[in-house]
Amino acid sequence: MTVKPKIRGFICTTAHPDGCRAIVRSQIDYVKNAGKINGPKKVLVIGASMGYGLASRIAAAYGCGASTIGVIFDKPGSDAKTASAGWYNTAAFEEFAHNDGLYAKTINGDAFSSDINEQVIELIKKELGKVDMIVYSLAAPRRTTSDGTVYSSVLKTTDKEFTNKTIDLKTGEISEATIYPASEAEIFATVKVMGGEDWKEWIGALKSAGAVEDNAVTVAYSYIGPEMTHPIYKDGSIGRAKDHLAATAKEITRSIDGVNAYVSVNKALVTQSSAAIPVVPLYISILYKVMKEMELHEGCIEQMYRLFAEKIYGGGIKTDENGLIRLDDLEMRDDVQEKVSEIWNGISSENISSCADLDGYRKDFSRLFGFEADGVDYDADTNTAVDIPSLT
Ligand code: NAD
Repeated sequence: MTVKPKIRGFICTTAHPDGCRAIVRSQIDYVKNAGKINGPKKVLVIGASMGYGLASRIAAAYGCGASTIGVIFDKPGSDAKTASAGWYNTAAFEEFAHNDGLYAKTINGDAFSSDINEQVIELIKKELGKVDMIVYSLAAPRRTTSDGTVYSSVLKTTDKEFTNKTIDLKTGEISEATIYPASEAEIFATVKVMGGEDWKEWIGALKSAGAVEDNAVTVAYSYIGPEMTHPIYKDGSIGRAKDHLAATAKEITRSIDGVNAYVSVNKALVTQSSAAIPVVPLYISILYKVMKEMELHEGCIEQMYRLFAEKIYGGGIKTDENGLIRLDDLEMRDDVQEKVSEIWNGISSENISSCADLDGYRKDFSRLFGFEADGVDYDADTNTAVDIPSLT
């Protein structure tokens, strides 16, 4: 069938197999060109099919020559229906990795479930013995815990309502969005989903099963951002979860022998998760414009390569005074933020095209689902029932 994008709000319900493959290929090529890293050799990536998790897997495999096991939660396609983008990304990654002689296997299912946890541990024990790095990169709307309780995360403020500019990405209209405070129960649930509890359970289970090398590293991802986004992000319900994640890193390092846990604060980028946050997509469109003009722009793969090559495996782990790895160092530079805030104050629906990189935002959004990749014929018939080699 021919596959076209079907965008509904901030998700696209179709994905293009050849486009996803081409984008994974370009991320692999970036890492191959960037050079080898003296890094981990057996890496587990939880949340490996999209965004920062996928880029971490590519950086580990192609930068460090690592064997990788990825945990994903994706839907296969059929002759009549496309798979999720993460499915196609993973199928392509495995195909390339296997052709390049790299071990790569995938477990598909809910990473919050004990069943998937057990399957992953069994696979590690059987085929890799132990892992020396665990990347925890889940961005999930909900989590079902072992007692059957379902927790849903919310993107709200924590104290008072907050009104600021937001963008309709379809029309380019700028309007005001008001975000209301979360209840204590909603904050609690958001911390359950996006905080560190599940991360710590994963590391504890891996360690108890004897599946972790001594001096292993585990990393989870966070975001801080500038003041204009603080009410909805850093000081919002998601920020509470990220505070919990940072506290959990210290807790893992302190209580689980031989494991060093870090939180890396990454750059704001277009991913499926960030597109869902009010205010943030407008900020990202302006940030893209400013950082591209200053030749400082990075995407997921540039960020993850830098994480491995410079911040973790470049001769000592580089953290700030709070123990956080700061990959948002370029985004948060004073000269970048001064320009962003100047534009933010004057932006309107009338001047949006000259003040923000809306085209760049939209292109990156399409590319999440395999559209707008170079060299792909989107009018041609394509096979949508692609297999992930290790799952067949
Ligand atoms: P993403 O949506 O691109 O990727 C999330 C991944 O998690 C996907 O592969 C998805 O399939 C997987 N996943 C979700 N629920 C799952 C489940 N139950 N079981 C298994 N896999 C599951 O998101 P992202 O933006 O790459 O976010 C990853 C992390 O990076 C998050 O912690 C996020 O807060 C953080 N982060 C994102 C940004 C940004 O701007 N996008 C910036 C800084 C930090």
